[in-house]
Amino acid sequence: MFDEKEFFERTPKGLLIRAPILKITPVALADLRLYTMFCDVEVSGLGKIKTSGQEMIITDILIFPQKCSNVGTGLDENGLFDFIGSIPGEENDDDYRLWWHSHVWMLPHWSLTDNRTIERFHYADFWVSIVTNKWHQQGARVDFFNPMRIIFDDLPLSLSEPFDEKNLWFLMRKRFYDAGIEGKIRKNVRNIEEEIKQELLYHQIKKEVEEKFKKGARNNGKS
Ligand SMILES: [Zn+2]
Repeated sequence: MFDEKEFFERTPKGLLIRAPILKITPVALADLRLYTMFCDVEVSGLGKIKTSGQEMIITDILIFPQKCSNVGTGLDENGLFDFIGSIPGEENDDDYRLWWHSHVWMLPHWSLTDNRTIERFHYADFWVSIVTNKWHQQGARVDFFNPMRIIFDDLPLSLSEPFDEKNLWFLMRKRFYDAGIEGKIRKNVRNIEEEIKQELLYHQIKKEVEEKFKKGARNNGKS
C-alpha cells in the first residue's frame, strides 16, 4: 500500500541535481593529446558528445580553420563560431557539444575569455568544455543553459573503456599517421605570430632591395 508519509520522508527536501559523468573514448583522447602536443599555439576545436542518462561520452575530436598566436593572446573566437555556423543544422543540434582548447604550457584554468566564449553557447541546452595543456593536465566542465543555468566545474574525465597509458601511446602513434594529425594542423592552424615575423622580415628585405635599386639607378644616371 502506498504510504504517503513514508514517501515524503524518503524524498530529499533540497533540489536534487546529479552531476554529469564525463567520459572520453581512447581515440578521442589520443587525438586531443596529439593536437595539443603538436601545436605550439592555443589551438581550439570541437568534439562530438553522445549522451546516455547521466553519461556524456566524447567520441570525436576535430579542429577547424583558425588564426592562433602564443599563449596569453587568446583564441580565434570568430573562427570557432564561423565553423559552428557552417555545420549542417541536424548534425549541429545533436552532436557537436564540446569545445576544447589548449593553454600550451600554462595551467588549464578557465580564463575570462574562456568564460565569455562558453556563454556564447547559450543557444544549446548544454555544452561541454575542456581546457588542456602539453602536460596532459585538463579542466572539464559542463554548462547547462536550459531549463536552468547550472555549471558543473572540475569534473573528472575518465576513459569510456579500460585502456592503460602504454596502449594510449601506441594508439597516439597510430592516430598520428592514420588520422593525418600533422596535415590537419598545417591545413587549419595559422600561427599569426609567425606570419607577422615573416611579414616584418619581408618588408625589411623589400626596403633594402628597393634602396639598393634606387642607389643603382642614381649611379647609372650619373655615369
Ligand atoms: Zn583558455
